[in-house]
Amino acid sequence: MAEFGSSTIDCGVVEAVQTQVFDVVVIGGGPSGMAAALAAHKAGARVAIVEREQHLGGILRQCIHPGFGLSHFKQELTGPEYAQRFIDQVHATDIALFLNSMVLGIDSGEPAEDTAVHAVTLMSPAGMLQLTGRAVVLAMGCRERTRSEIKIPGSRPAGVFTAGLAQRYINIENLKPGSRAVILGSGDIGLIMARRCTLEGISVEGVYELMPYANGLRRNVKNCLDDFDIPLHLSTTVTRVIGHDRVEAVEVSQVDERLAPIPGTERVVPCDTLLLSVGLIPENELSVAAGVELDPRTRGAVVDQSLQTGVPGIFACGNVLHVHDLADNVTTESEHAGAAAAAYALGGGAETNAVADTSCELTVSPAGIAGYALPGRITAVALTKLNFRVRRPVDTARVRILANGEEVFAGKVRAFKPSVMESFPLPAKVIQRALDLGASEIVLSVDPVEEA
Ligand SMILES: Cc1cc2nc3c(=O)[nH]c(=O)nc-3n(C[C@H](O)[C@H](O)[C@H](O)COP(=O)(O)OP(=O)(O)OC[C@H]3O[C@@H](n4cnc5c(N)ncnc54)[C@H](O)[C@@H]3O)c2cc1C
Repeated sequence: MAEFGSSTIDCGVVEAVQTQVFDVVVIGGGPSGMAAALAAHKAGARVAIVEREQHLGGILRQCIHPGFGLSHFKQELTGPEYAQRFIDQVHATDIALFLNSMVLGIDSGEPAEDTAVHAVTLMSPAGMLQLTGRAVVLAMGCRERTRSEIKIPGSRPAGVFTAGLAQRYINIENLKPGSRAVILGSGDIGLIMARRCTLEGISVEGVYELMPYANGLRRNVKNCLDDFDIPLHLSTTVTRVIGHDRVEAVEVSQVDERLAPIPGTERVVPCDTLLLSVGLIPENELSVAAGVELDPRTRGAVVDQSLQTGVPGIFACGNVLHVHDLADNVTTESEHAGAAAAAYALGGGAETNAVADTSCELTVSPAGIAGYALPGRITAVALTKLNFRVRRPVDTARVRILANGEEVFAGKVRAFKPSVMESFPLPAKVIQRALDLGASEIVLSVDPVEEA
């Protein structure tokens, strides 16, 4: 007979998995999970956080650069400092913490009903556990796209890392990934790693970006590249990795307007390290298995204005919902999700969700250069925060809301960049107007003014 935590295994017979009961179970202990848990706890719910790492804090533990907290705390903090403020708050409550614990699945019954209690199964150091909650908050963050996802040709030597992995090696493990690096992708993680590598004595040959514009925040281009004389090569990509055991060089090529490499522009750049900062993918395998519908544009859940997914009682926030550029925005969004999850759990059903309104059911679709619109559904006539991102930079564009072809809202003309997540409050009277027009869909359209 083998002891396995609190369960006992005997000739293949496993005792019932231990179950603990909560109102709200939060999956993920990054900034989104902590903010959601604190908001749910403040609303009076019994809350648990499940985190697969040994520590709370999520990805912020390795983001040792400043730039966090400017809007939330009106103070510039590093990632670990920002995370610590929430860790301290969590520790000051009776929120149950399950660290070193990986959630394996969410069982919401079949089919998921309004009255369902969700069972979250996790593997903890004490063995398999089940936590039940009337509400679950998905806060699992995202992972980085890898070489295989962008299919860079060439050999397969050591020395190709995602930028976040290199960030972990340097900032947490105190390991040096290489001596001479090329960075592919000008997203914020790539820009920040260009500076970090330089500060750690790794020579950065350049940052190469497929698009004709930088993908990171303007302040990061200035603070991380311009201030360190690191060249940024736009409309250029890595077309081959060269090297046997270890990277010896990469071949870079310019691309045309269709983003295809231009023959004859190939150039070999000697290096021993290639860092990839080529996008993030929300970690939604658990969500899909639980029956949550995903939006193909965000690769996160389709949610309503209270950030509830299509499965009653399951909410989503932070990077698992859509990729954020600022942790401060993650916190604000997640507090909203946590409060809504507590209202749902304590209220006893979707119909008691403070803002739900059975006569209101609108889908929200992006148009023009808007890449996505979130929430994807509006089920209440109430002030609603709409988030979106544009697909390309423009100097002058206008945000409009259309219902049955009629313009029901128009924002100011201004510049938009893909690196910045935009949001604005949609007044209740605009939603009511759309309903009065008999619309079942509203369209969030971002239209460049010069092309109008
Ligand atoms: C490599 C990298 C670097 C970044 N650098 C910056 C930066 O410098 N500045 C900035 O503003 N933003 C940065 N970001 C964006 C950053 O992710 C967000 O600002 C913010 O941290 C997102 O918070 P989150 O809680 O949604 O996700 P995360 O911080 O990623 O937290 C998610 C947590 O969920 C846990 N988890 C996932 N699946 C499970 C499971 N099945 N069971 C249990 N736990 C699970 C993970 O272990 C993790 O701790 C970075 C992102 C990445 C990926």
